[in-house]
Amino acid sequence: MLSLLVTAVGCSPRGGRSGSRGDDDDAADDDDSVEPGDDDDTGNDDDDVDDDDVGDDDDAANDDDTADCASDEIEDCNGSCAPADWLGDGLCDNGGPDSEYGGNNINFACGQLNYDDGDCEATGDDDDSMDPCAPPLSILNCGTPGPVIGSSGWANPTIGAPPTSCSGVWAAAPVTRALPSGVVSAYVGYYGGADARPLFQYLGNGAGVIADTTTNPFASSSGGGVYDTHVAGAVMPMTPGTSPQSGCIVLWPSTDDTPSDGEVLFTVRPAGPTDDLIHINVGLVAGSGASQANFADSLYAAADLLYFGTGEGVDLYEAWTFYTISDSNLSYIDSSGSAIDSLRQTAMGNDDRTVNLFVIGAFDDSILGIAGGIPGPIGHQGYPTSGVVVAMEPHLDGNGDVDATYMAQTIVHEIGHYIGLYHTTEGSGSTWDPLSDTPQCTMSSPTPSGCADGGNIMFWTGGPGDDQSTLSPQQANVYVSSPIVQ
Ligand SMILES: [Zn+2]
Repeated sequence: MLSLLVTAVGCSPRGGRSGSRGDDDDAADDDDSVEPGDDDDTGNDDDDVDDDDVGDDDDAANDDDTADCASDEIEDCNGSCAPADWLGDGLCDNGGPDSEYGGNNINFACGQLNYDDGDCEATGDDDDSMDPCAPPLSILNCGTPGPVIGSSGWANPTIGAPPTSCSGVWAAAPVTRALPSGVVSAYVGYYGGADARPLFQYLGNGAGVIADTTTNPFASSSGGGVYDTHVAGAVMPMTPGTSPQSGCIVLWPSTDDTPSDGEVLFTVRPAGPTDDLIHINVGLVAGSGASQANFADSLYAAADLLYFGTGEGVDLYEAWTFYTISDSNLSYIDSSGSAIDSLRQTAMGNDDRTVNLFVIGAFDDSILGIAGGIPGPIGHQGYPTSGVVVAMEPHLDGNGDVDATYMAQTIVHEIGHYIGLYHTTEGSGSTWDPLSDTPQCTMSSPTPSGCADGGNIMFWTGGPGDDQSTLSPQQANVYVSSPIVQ
């Protein structure tokens, strides 16, 4: 069933004049030349971690990270000190009132502690349709959640050695965090190295499960996570019904290959005024033919397209900074593999709450552009999927000039994926985005002229001269409320 997600988001390149706009990495990308952890510090919001800690003064967080337990105590699943001799004593300590100790309800019912060394049943796990190693629903009893996710980006310490495995699936212990109230939007992701295929669930206190990727594959597009080969993530809201709710977030990282380490990534946008700007780092790759002089018009056109297309005021206007990437070997590359991963790992500037837009000469498979996931690792630079890549050559007109309108449509399309928008209709004509206000085309090979959504920015394919300039109100809301907006 995991492969369904790949099918749902995949773009097959098309021949002829029309170009295909890719989504995210090919699942077959087995590149392991990128060492997990390399450059990750660049992508971590160290400053924000500090800020978060300062504001993280509720009791729920204080006893989590580095509890100083007595010699006859151990940390439970939530980091609370618990009597060591309760582990595997024949009684299931699952965070219930009978497990109270030192002011906390002790919870040993997690994979890290082998479910109280076998005392706790993995109950409720009656739907493993998404994953052969689906977590027991008991993990959704968050107990005492981990630290509060703060006012902006926050990166978790690395997840260490694998505590659990089953049916070829590697699984870390569930990670819990508390989401404060008043959050506009949030991103949660899991980086597991070259072959990460994460799976996770969310829980909102008092409101139950926000989205459950283990029971509903396409919940992946309504708030859960579509995995990538490197970073899986989800953004809230991804639909009108998936706005972040205060309470506990449960993330259950797993992959189909044993990673050497992993990291959990968070980006939270608090309530409050913004400039409604999406800041973009534009990386012009040497040898691509792109320059500030011939690319600026495309950015202005993208700003017009997004701002006036939505009417809701999110803007790109001059919120971009140009950078030069001197390695010309990165100008003509595959849309998956070590070269594009290396390119996207390039951090530009010091602000992680940006979108990296890399401009190359062409992809070997002739696509127009590709995003590092749906969503990509919003607010985190330096990962193999951090950013979107667009190609110059397919956007040149007969005179060799950049077709700024065409390029602008590709830029807004790919950033749309990066912030969590799917194709309105996929290339198969049999899967569609989860939004209720976008048309669904049922052509076997959907064309812009043959589909009601052919003029939508998120249509799966487009060519020069196609007017793809519309976003539905729900699509616009995903853009406007994105955690990337500053
Ligand atoms: Zn696309």
